[in-house]
Amino acid sequence: MDYQAILNVIEKELEHFDPGGKVPDYIPELAKIPANKFGMHLYCLNGDDFCFGDHDERFSIQSISKVFTLALAKKHGGKKIWKRVDVEPSGDPFNSLLQLEKEKGIPRNPFINAGSLVIADILISELDNPKEQLLEFVREISDDPSIEYDKKVAASENEHGYRNIALVNYMKALGNIENDADDILDFYFHQCSIAMSCRQLAKAFIIFANEGKTLNTNKKVIGANSAKRINAIMQTCGFYDEAGEFSFRVGLPGKSGVGGGIVAIHPGEYSVAVWSPLLNEKGNSEKGMKALEELTSLTGLSIF
Ligand code: GLU
Repeated sequence: MDYQAILNVIEKELEHFDPGGKVPDYIPELAKIPANKFGMHLYCLNGDDFCFGDHDERFSIQSISKVFTLALAKKHGGKKIWKRVDVEPSGDPFNSLLQLEKEKGIPRNPFINAGSLVIADILISELDNPKEQLLEFVREISDDPSIEYDKKVAASENEHGYRNIALVNYMKALGNIENDADDILDFYFHQCSIAMSCRQLAKAFIIFANEGKTLNTNKKVIGANSAKRINAIMQTCGFYDEAGEFSFRVGLPGKSGVGGGIVAIHPGEYSVAVWSPLLNEKGNSEKGMKALEELTSLTGLSIF
């Protein structure tokens, strides 16, 4: 498959595509991102890689981090995760409080904010140095020690994170939070602030396409069964209340973030990351979705 030729077509086709939408302004630091950024990077399991545009520029990974924290929690928190977080699509926005009361503080899945806050709580209970260990894990699977938290983004979200503050306190009231709310929020705002490029994200996500093994070292960092389950949750819950639409149009498991990034994987084939900051009303990068739809159409390959 000539992936570079296909990526070139996508770049050219979408050069003048106007996705509409806006950059998120509820985290002021993210509102500063130039809206016209566009890049894509794809890694095959054999290490071949293909790219275009702003693929080497780092951006805020935001909700994409929820996949990393779930993978780390699977390594350390084991089965008890699923007593505290469900695996059903929410059909509600990523920061919704609505379902929590009805479901007794058990979030619908680990990729909405409430679910990821519970995963943060589990990691704080299980790890000695949760923030350092998360960064080590992401650096290991990306094979890149330069990956860092963006302290400005974390601080900006901390100042304006009223919904997340409400979510964690509400779940504490309902008995599904063990640790101090401030510690959980500090960890969560840091995980969301991790800055990575499309290249680094595509490389890191190879573990989900490769039965838990990293690209460069072939080291098994999570079990094949964990990779399978995390892919299933990406497929059904990776795009807030637009997971059905992404599945319908693209046909791959993936995860988006309000920084404008999307990562998708084709198990046994490749992982791919795309970045375009303008978000549609569901909080997903519209041009990023379009680029991935083109990718699976032009290759004729998806998981379906
Ligand atoms: N840090 C963001 C929030 O909690 C993440 C949202 C996202 O990317 O979905 O609001």
